[in-house]
Amino acid sequence: MRAHPVERHRTTRIGWLRAAVMGANDGIVSTASLVLGVAGAGAARADVLVAGVAGLVAGAMSMAAGEYVSVSSQSDTERADLERERKELATDDDAERAELAAIYVKRGLERDLARQVSDQLMAHDALGAHARDELGISELTTARPVQAAFASAATFAVGAGLPLLATVLAPRSLLVWVVAASSLVFLALLGAMAALAGGSRWQASVARVTFWGALAMGLTFGVGALFGTTVG
Ligand SMILES: [Zn+2]
Repeated sequence: MRAHPVERHRTTRIGWLRAAVMGANDGIVSTASLVLGVAGAGAARADVLVAGVAGLVAGAMSMAAGEYVSVSSQSDTERADLERERKELATDDDAERAELAAIYVKRGLERDLARQVSDQLMAHDALGAHARDELGISELTTARPVQAAFASAATFAVGAGLPLLATVLAPRSLLVWVVAASSLVFLALLGAMAALAGGSRWQASVARVTFWGALAMGLTFGVGALFGTTVG
């Protein structure tokens, strides 16, 4: 018997890593843009910081709320699907056996073998077999709304903390440049890390995140500067 390598593919690790990187990206881009917009309007450092901190809290809560709602509704759908499946299994065993066997035929098994596989899997765990192969629900994809909400709020806050730290540390005269440059560096590092962990080329990932980050920051700074001179 040959031993399996411990890690054959990386999809499971990519799931949470991608979510974490996306949360942190959002935190960096939106908070750095906010800071630059307010700084561009000529505000003092204390006011820039207040805006940035408010942006961190607002963004983290908005991420948490959005994630909770979206994952909850996914979880409701999954639960309803499972409930329907449980009823069908209880009332129409024959049709369910044929249904599962048909799925395996479609995936390439011969009819007799498909029937055998379906019978054996259903003897072992009928609902589990239907959940996996008919509904596409596995334990790994089972939705957890509270964890998802907490995770996206936390990763957003970590990302948002980086431009805020730069805002605290940079001299006011250089604040805009320090926040913009450090945020682009953080974005590039995150993009490279995510790409390398996923086994894809890091150059494309870094180019994408820095381009969109620079665009967001540049645009917000421009609007802030314009607004600051016309309104302020
Ligand atoms: Zn079924």
